[in-house]
Formats: sequence, structure tokens, C-alpha cells
Amino acid sequence: MAPTYIVMLGPPGAGKGTQAKKLAQKLDLVHVSTGDLFRENLKNETELGQLAQQYMNEGELVPDDVTIRMVEERLSRPDCEEGAVLDGFPRTPAQAKALDDLLKKFGSSVKVVPYIKVADEALVERLSGRWMSPSGRVYHEKYNPPTVKWIDDIDGSQLYQREDDKPATVRHRIEVYNEQTAPLIEYYRDKDLLVEIDGTQSIEEVTEDIMKAVEEA
Ligand code: ADP
Ligand code: AMP
Repeated sequence: MAPTYIVMLGPPGAGKGTQAKKLAQKLDLVHVSTGDLFRENLKNETELGQLAQQYMNEGELVPDDVTIRMVEERLSRPDCEEGAVLDGFPRTPAQAKALDDLLKKFGSSVKVVPYIKVADEALVERLSGRWMSPSGRVYHEKYNPPTVKWIDDIDGSQLYQREDDKPATVRHRIEVYNEQTAPLIEYYRDKDLLVEIDGTQSIEEVTEDIMKAVEEA
């Protein structure tokens, strides 16, 4: 069977990472987050991490050529043979085209694009209350709190706030999303792949709607 690729679309803070993790687990697919890949490179002080750092801290996008190469490499690994849930990629029309070309080479294509809709005003609160675990698990001080403040429920590690989740940077990231990524809504709508999801519901309700969209695709 051709591998399954799902693209999670939505502004920063919409819940892409939260939902992509659940979806990947339910469908037994790999969760591929370009943000996580860049952060891992940053932590390991690789050349790629050093290149990405400035863009990330300023809330800008890392250049397409670098990002596309990283994703091509990741999706070519054996653990992605059955497909992947893509989170944070593509973020520009050039990336979307590159993804189509790559998946064609794999004898596949994007199956469905859940577009998680949340109004800009709610995103700042979502992101400024986001607590991250070094493992990539995502909490929220109010909407998805860990049992013990600042401690990961699963492995007990110390939670932290992302450098780029400061309100000023968040506002810039939303602008960048509106300018560079929002055109993908039409791109995927034209291909009849887009399914709009109300991202203001509870985390569980959003998961249910996305699962329905995947099953019906
Ligand atoms: P994204 O990957 O799209 O940037 P995240 O999945 O990291 O977004 O979610 C951003 C923040 O909002 C996190 O702190 C997360 O716990 C919280 N969150 C995610 N989904 C919901 C929801 N449906 N309702 C309230 N808070 C949510
Ligand atoms: P995220 O974790 O998805 O919020 O991404 C964090 C940051 O990583 C973004 O603000 C960008 O600087 C960078 N990044 C992640 N994915 C991409 C992408 N597809 N294209 C360019 N930059 C990206």
C-alpha cells in the first residue's frame, strides 16, 4: 500500500503539535515536526542548528532550500516507510511544491490536510502559556496543565518556555504565517484536500474531528 501522509495546517499555537502527536499514535505513523527537528539540531549544536537559530529566535522562517533538504532526508528514513504526520511543514508554496514532488517519487501524495482554525487573538494566550518538555511533549499552564507545575507527567523532566513564545515574537510569527503560509489554505483547497477544523474546541474534540476527516479522506 502507498504510504500515508497527513499535513497539519494552521497558525502557530493552533494545536498542530498537540494533535499531530495523538494522530501519529492512533494511526501508527511517525510525527515529523520541522520545528522539533530544528530545535534538536540547535541543542546538538550542528551546523544546521546554528544556521536556523537566528531565524527561529526572530520568528522568521528558515530558508526553503535548507528546510526542504532536511525534510527530504527525514522522510527518506526507513521509519517513514508507512508515511508520516507532518507538523509545521510545508510553510511556503515552494515547500508545498517540493513535498508534492518528493511524495510522487515515493509513489504517493498528501492524503488530507486538517486545517486547524483559531483566531489570531487566542494564539498569543495559547503560546505564552505553553510549557514544553525536552521530549517534545506540549502542555499549557491553563488548558493542559501537568499534574505538578513545570514537571513532565511522563518522565519527570523540567518543563520550559520556548524562546520564541514571547508575546512580541509570537505576534511576528503570526504575521509571517499570514503572509507566507496562509496561501497554502487555497493551495490545498484547490486540490480538494483541505478539511477545516474548529480549533477552539477542547483538545479531545479537535482530535475527534481530525480523526473523522482522516477516515473520510
Ligand atoms: P502548534 O504546534 O500549532 O504551534 P501546540 O500544539 O504547541 O500548537 O499548542 C499551543 C498551545 O496551546 C499548547 O500550550 C497547547 O497545550 C495548547 N492547546 C493545544 N490545543 C488546544 C485546545 N484545543 N484548547 C486549548 N489549548 C490548546
Ligand atoms: P514551530 O515549532 O513549528 O513553531 O517552528 C519553530 C520555528 O522553526 C519557526 O518559527 C521557524 O523559524 C522554524 N521552522 C519550522 N518549520 C519551518 C518550515 N517549514 N519552514 C521554515 N522555517 C521553519
